[in-house]
Amino acid sequence: MADPLIAVHDVQKIYKTGDVEVHALGGVSLEIVPGEFVAIMGASGSGKSTLMNILGCLDRPTLGTYMLAGRHVAKMNRDELAETRNEVLGFVFQNFNLLARTSALENVELPLIYRGVRAKERHRRAGAALARVGLGQRLDHTPAQLSGGQQQRVAIARALVGEPKVILADEPTGNLDSRTSTEVMGLFQELGSAGITVVLVTHEPDIAEYASRVVVVKDGLIREDTRQTPRVAAPPPKAGES
Ligand code: ADP
Ligand code: MG
Repeated sequence: MADPLIAVHDVQKIYKTGDVEVHALGGVSLEIVPGEFVAIMGASGSGKSTLMNILGCLDRPTLGTYMLAGRHVAKMNRDELAETRNEVLGFVFQNFNLLARTSALENVELPLIYRGVRAKERHRRAGAALARVGLGQRLDHTPAQLSGGQQQRVAIARALVGEPKVILADEPTGNLDSRTSTEVMGLFQELGSAGITVVLVTHEPDIAEYASRVVVVKDGLIREDTRQTPRVAAPPPKAGES
């Protein structure tokens, strides 16, 4: 088996607010290899977002270790961490987090602006990322001119434009109807076939069916970790359509 891209070992997360301690994660170990499509499931409050925040290097474990792409996250300084996050990770959110009154193309270009990529190259790469998610004809549209599913595809293009190894998505279909959710899951499956690792949080069993592995979290612990034959989603719309 390939070296894990993500390896958390015995990770605990304790939040302290005043005198109250919340054990959000109670000792989680998880290895994810390149190309896996993992759905993390669990009831509200079970620790899914806490785990995702740690995987995304947005938060640090209280105890335990996290190796991302072979590197100890706790041992990296701020710059190294920022660089590793940029190189390795792409993020997709439930609420899309797109800039309003800003075109799809510019939204997707944003991560490249932060990285100092020149305008011409930015346009080219952002256009290619939007074509990849089937929105090649919608470059000038603002979020308000796009459906929810299309907005989420713009957000996925924004995550892809930096050529990440892993996409982390917290409830990416939470605001979408079921047909659109299936489309988005089909898109994630396609990215998976192209070698991108996808880790997705959902509380919906029908969404988890599209993943190749389902990890169930309960009260801050992994209770199940199952590999499965993913349900096949209809292929996403081709570039230029929809
Ligand atoms: P999920 O995403 O599965 O709904 P979370 O990871 O958000 O669960 O939360 C797990 C537990 O940790 C919950 O009891 C929640 O209230 C608590 N929690 C989450 N974030 C914080 C925080 N920043 N401060 C204190 N408690 C928190
Ligand atoms: Mg959550």
